[in-house]
Amino acid sequence: MIKFRFELPELGYQLGDLAPMMSQQTLSYHYGKHFRAYVDTLNQLVDGSKYEGLSLTDLVRKAPEGPIANNAGQVHNHLLFFEQLTPNFNAKHPSGEFLFLIEQSFGSFDTMIERLTKAASSFFGSGWVFLAITEQGELKLFSLPNGDSPLRYGLVPLLVIDVWEHAYYLDYQNRKKDYLTNLFMLINWQVVSARLP
Ligand code: MN
Repeated sequence: MIKFRFELPELGYQLGDLAPMMSQQTLSYHYGKHFRAYVDTLNQLVDGSKYEGLSLTDLVRKAPEGPIANNAGQVHNHLLFFEQLTPNFNAKHPSGEFLFLIEQSFGSFDTMIERLTKAASSFFGSGWVFLAITEQGELKLFSLPNGDSPLRYGLVPLLVIDVWEHAYYLDYQNRKKDYLTNLFMLINWQVVSARLP
């Protein structure tokens, strides 16, 4: 029997493609070392446990607070984070149903970006800021510490912002707001919109 293992997903771009907004050095550490370590640790923790064989999202939802939940959350958050980036800077903004939901919840796309930037720049400690959707179809901003996920609270994450220092420190040091401004230029809104349930 072949053992099920979580794997580091391939990127849809080269490590140097997102520079200067996100340097090759940052990506090689963040993707190649941090993300890989969460995947490897999750495999070790799940191996032989009663959680073996569960899908990643089931692990995120169901594992009790502790190392498995932390690492599964970090793997899922990073999966979404790296998948939503594109070297086509300032790729097309949201449209259609997604834009309608954004305008309903925030008034405008620009207001949503402002609020995400504010939530992420004022986040204290290591964690994530999410644009997530509730079961009722309402968009919400959600800030969570460490490796936590909106999935654990019944929401589906759409856009994820990594506010751990490892996400920006090599490029931006304490200039967290510059990291956020530039990160928004790298977002592929079509990928984000395809995450709508
Ligand atoms: Mn990270």
